[in-house]
Amino acid sequence: MEKLMLLGDEALAQGALDAGISGFYAYPGTPSTEIVEYVQHSKQAEAGGVHRQWSSNEKTAMESAIGMSYSGKRTMACMKHVGLNVAADPFMNSAFTGANGGLIITVADDPSMHSSQNEQDSRYYGKFAMIPVLEPSNQQECYDMAFHGFELSERFHIPVMIRLTTRLSHSRSGVMRREPLRQNPLKKPDDLFQFMLLPAIARRKYKHLIELQNSFVHASLESPFNSFHLEAPDLTIGIIATGLAYNYLREVFQDREIPYPVLKICQYPLPMKAIHALYDLCDSILVLEEGMPIVEESIKGASFNGTKPIKGRLDGTLSRDGELNPNKVAVALGLPDTFGSIIPAVICPRPPALCVGCPHCDSYIALNEAVAEYGRGHVFSDIGCYTLGFLPPYNAINSCVDMGASITMAKGASDAGLFPAVAVIGDSTFAHSGMTGLMDCIYENSNVVVVILDNATTGMTGGQDYTAVGRLEDICAGIGVSRDHIRVFVPFKKNYEDMVRIYKEEIAYNGVSVIIPRRECVQTLKKKNKLETPA
Ligand code: SF4
Repeated sequence: MEKLMLLGDEALAQGALDAGISGFYAYPGTPSTEIVEYVQHSKQAEAGGVHRQWSSNEKTAMESAIGMSYSGKRTMACMKHVGLNVAADPFMNSAFTGANGGLIITVADDPSMHSSQNEQDSRYYGKFAMIPVLEPSNQQECYDMAFHGFELSERFHIPVMIRLTTRLSHSRSGVMRREPLRQNPLKKPDDLFQFMLLPAIARRKYKHLIELQNSFVHASLESPFNSFHLEAPDLTIGIIATGLAYNYLREVFQDREIPYPVLKICQYPLPMKAIHALYDLCDSILVLEEGMPIVEESIKGASFNGTKPIKGRLDGTLSRDGELNPNKVAVALGLPDTFGSIIPAVICPRPPALCVGCPHCDSYIALNEAVAEYGRGHVFSDIGCYTLGFLPPYNAINSCVDMGASITMAKGASDAGLFPAVAVIGDSTFAHSGMTGLMDCIYENSNVVVVILDNATTGMTGGQDYTAVGRLEDICAGIGVSRDHIRVFVPFKKNYEDMVRIYKEEIAYNGVSVIIPRRECVQTLKKKNKLETPA
């Protein structure tokens, strides 16, 4: 079969296509965005009529995927780790409804917070929901796990989580394809009550989920992605390496055999029988896992006699936070830290910045002037490119908590008596989770100014479409904002005086105002111009 050079995200997407998926559902979020972007450019997906449009947010994506699974087809909801918080309600309930057609939830975690506001580990969600979790250690496994995930999902009628991390999502390797499978036919669940979580049914389903746990553990023991090498010359350390951490371990010993017994764990729940065998064999255990110490905690909390050291992130052998890498793994094994090269000072980390010509720059400069008389601390921001307005020279915003939080934070601050209370949110983020916050403001006629920075795209993740494009004024008016207080301007220097005047007028208005500075992201504009310029 054909061999392709793919990012981890792309390998998973191609694997899902070859495994006969019928629909992807997602909201863009680094490092998961490339999964759906890949499928949007795929001729195979187009020919197969595979659904691959963006959803409004992760919750709507998850619910749509559940609906496609109900209909018997294979489907995947994709998101980044914090997106799973948004989708947590349907995600947790999906463990109770189970799956009909294969249902995979792919979550890409971002250890070291390269592009995220926190460092949570989605494996906890998988454990919380009591469903199988797959964690590839390389790009080939990303591809193969799509097949395996759908098979597992359909065998047990259960959703399956695939957990990626940034470094795997965004690095490239050769991937061998398999013979593509056909899509499932449309087929409703045999039990039409399967997706009906009324308490009496949900109680029955919960018992069933508990009963399935032993089968899931057995599936982990049998998994082609878990391997247990107990025969080794040096029994002073037994290593448990999960997901990408196994790859780092292999890199440390790239030119020789690993001298210690190793459990490679890429499918959960944990195969405890194998872990017990390792514990009995070795003088100590070292747990290498990317993210939080979920395996280490599980082992420490399990029924071991406690006489042998279990090392990892909890005892400081590895740092408690941040990404792993081969250097850190080597040091944890007592080997010299000789990997990598010294980074020259000239490429030391530099903070990100708004692009030259970004429409948000002028919007912020004018807003700063409009609120100057009230002092600093009045502008609640959201998550997107415009969050960079926090940095000099703008110093324009005071918060960044979660998607959609700016409007509700401004409302809460206004409820507390803060004046003015200004929320800044992007157009895509407004569609994701800002609208409901605006409804809260309307319901109580809160004294807030909501600035929707409209650049006609989801800018921060590279310029994807979003569901409310071209309809912002109508949506705001439909929610209940007075048309007189929906103000639109083009953020250019030549309009500067008008911009400041509009900001000031709406701050002076006692009620809900929406201001929409509208100018296209210069990056998406550049891409379009490139596409439109004849070669
Ligand atoms: S990508 Fe677009 S929206 Fe983001 S900073 Fe650059 S120009 Fe501004």
